[in-house]
Amino acid sequence: MNVVTEIKALKMSRSRRRVPRWAGLWVCIAAAVLITGCKKRDAVTPTVGIDSPERTWVRVLLFGNLREWTLETPAGFTAEGIGNGEVVDFSDSTALHMELTDGRIRVGEHLLSSQVLLVPNDPYYFVLNGEGFRGNLKLLMNDDGESVMAVNYVPLESYLLGVIGAEMHSYWEPEALKAQAVAARTYCLSIQHRFGAGRDWDIARTQANQMYSGLSAENSRVRQAVLDTTGQILIGPDANGNEWVFPAYYSSSCGGHTEESRYVFGDDLVPLPGVACPWCESVARHRDFFWEPVFYSMDQVSERLMMRYASLQRLERITDVDVIREGAAGRITQVRLTGANGRTSTLRGEDFRLSLDPTGRRLKSILATMTKSQDGLLFENGRGFGHGVGLCQCGAQGQARQGRSYREILSFYYPASRLVTIETSAAP
Ligand SMILES: [Zn+2]
Repeated sequence: MNVVTEIKALKMSRSRRRVPRWAGLWVCIAAAVLITGCKKRDAVTPTVGIDSPERTWVRVLLFGNLREWTLETPAGFTAEGIGNGEVVDFSDSTALHMELTDGRIRVGEHLLSSQVLLVPNDPYYFVLNGEGFRGNLKLLMNDDGESVMAVNYVPLESYLLGVIGAEMHSYWEPEALKAQAVAARTYCLSIQHRFGAGRDWDIARTQANQMYSGLSAENSRVRQAVLDTTGQILIGPDANGNEWVFPAYYSSSCGGHTEESRYVFGDDLVPLPGVACPWCESVARHRDFFWEPVFYSMDQVSERLMMRYASLQRLERITDVDVIREGAAGRITQVRLTGANGRTSTLRGEDFRLSLDPTGRRLKSILATMTKSQDGLLFENGRGFGHGVGLCQCGAQGQARQGRSYREILSFYYPASRLVTIETSAAP
């Protein structure tokens, strides 16, 4: 089974998706202004992929714990209570308050099931608590019985419209935006196939996966990048030489050298060796490329690591940290933690960083020197922003400025990969 067939088979085996038979859709400018306010932005024009095949939709976790919420649609919607089959037409309702009542989701005056699928009418978007998204919305009561998970069912290409502008400045070079589009599309499919089958959603919209801001991130430049690369993904050989859709990681700036995936995420992925990147330094903000020293007291180190990893409590209290492996260009890729009771444990460098600084905004990368002092750890000479694996976004922009194409950019950061096209949507 080749990779494209495999993708299709995997997708077709997924749970039922409600896909309206939409064709030739245009979202009117007035509606776009209604959703996005009066900020100056490009009009939202044809709905890319909204009539695409069912198997090419993705499920994006929008909110994990809603207790009450508001839903607005420009032309109403229908709601189906999953399980009891009740379908209610809300075509006359454009704004509704919703909540969970006694284990069932209340939509207006109707008390439906613990799971509800909402399908907006043309122009097929909804605004949930002030944020606009294309596609459908599924609401599922959590196991606690007190909150609701909101999952956006959206065609892959439409989803990407809300990702590219959230992940990269949309005023950047078109070739950089196109490289970002291919990386984001590939990453999404990889995560979907890896984790989606075991849960009610495929991908989160946080830094843990990739950002997705729906309609507010869209404009004509983003749309062009998605259209110009529609269906294009990267595949590469695994450790056995079989081609697969690998997680096409990317990060803000690599600090001058990207890192091998296995040293950061534990994935032994052939397409992702570290490469020297002279392109990002001139693009990244100076304070993001050369960041200020950061200090953590040993008490902070111990507390934060144990908060993230309960298993470390067997060390009682962390009293010492040693770097035991460095990756390309001096990146800290593994540390050994020593406890007050003499026990030790090891941790990958990126996990160590995100334990100390979950926001990643102070300790911006693990490409730094760590010095131990009596009362803490000092990180100096830090360079780059993010995990540094795969495509370097600032580097992609640097290369695009020099006239390199998105294909050249992608083969630079994912050297053993190749570009293939899969069916993701009908022609818009
Ligand atoms: Zn770089």
